[in-house]
Amino acid sequence: MSVRFIARIAASLLFAASAAHAAAPQVRTQAPGWYRTMLGRFEITVLSDGTHTFPVDTVMEGVSPAAVDAALARNDLRRPVQGSINAFLVNTGTRLVLIDTGAGVLYGDCCGKLLAHLRAAGYAPEQVDLVLLTHLHKDHVGGILAGGKPAFPNAVVRAAGADADYWLAQDQRAAAPAFLASFFDSAAAALAPYVAAGRFQPFAPGATLVPGIRAVAEPGHTPGHSGYLVEDGGQALLVWGDVVHVAAVQLEQTQATVKYDTSASAARASRTGLLERAAREHLLVGAAHVAFPGLGHVRRDSTGYVWLPLNYEGDPADPH
Ligand SMILES: [Zn+2]
Repeated sequence: MSVRFIARIAASLLFAASAAHAAAPQVRTQAPGWYRTMLGRFEITVLSDGTHTFPVDTVMEGVSPAAVDAALARNDLRRPVQGSINAFLVNTGTRLVLIDTGAGVLYGDCCGKLLAHLRAAGYAPEQVDLVLLTHLHKDHVGGILAGGKPAFPNAVVRAAGADADYWLAQDQRAAAPAFLASFFDSAAAALAPYVAAGRFQPFAPGATLVPGIRAVAEPGHTPGHSGYLVEDGGQALLVWGDVVHVAAVQLEQTQATVKYDTSASAARASRTGLLERAAREHLLVGAAHVAFPGLGHVRRDSTGYVWLPLNYEGDPADPH
């Protein structure tokens, strides 16, 4: 066997080996979407429902398209941006409370992943005692159903009375812009089995829902839009719902509203007030639509506010 022949065989073997590596199929799935941290003795698990393409240019109002693009560019983003849908599971030690439920089937294949991620995080839907909704839009209420039945068969569902009075009223539906009609229908359909079973219980502004969790009125995005202040061991987490839809734009252009706001002026006032409060009180914020896991602090700076994502930690064994 000639040296040249052996070299040719070796070369072809090498080629085959590298070709085999290159042929490994790409996987194209994300890690299960849950993230855990402690708040005093409370265990917080953020659950991703998925991400969807957010049409910034058709949804943002009160801000010029050029200013939107400039703000996105400063954050290394371009239209359209992927928007996270996050929900927050609080285990107080005695109660399991889920704040928001994702879109269920209402946003298509992008989303509706909350139940899979809840299970991946070590919980079962049957264990949820209480579901708190920040408001009754599709991407927050849709996930209370699975296969047309209650996804959380043992849970009481609660939302602000002002949101229930609005979204469940036929006369409000008739008076609202046409593009909101499906929002009214979705809210009514999602809540129907819970209403029928006497397990939907609206609350008054500022209500304490369980020890350590109380509602914070944040009107504007919807009439009863509510945050939830979660407190234990001297620490506080404000799960604020839809105060901010696109952080890169609205932390800088705080006047920017979305066309889904029931009252743009009230939504703007809630946002500016809550950003100021979160910065001043150094609140940990849980945000429905800031990039997963949507946990962080806000800091004021010369141009508005900056989002400071919570530092990643491994298994949170000790309360901090
Ligand atoms: Zn939302």
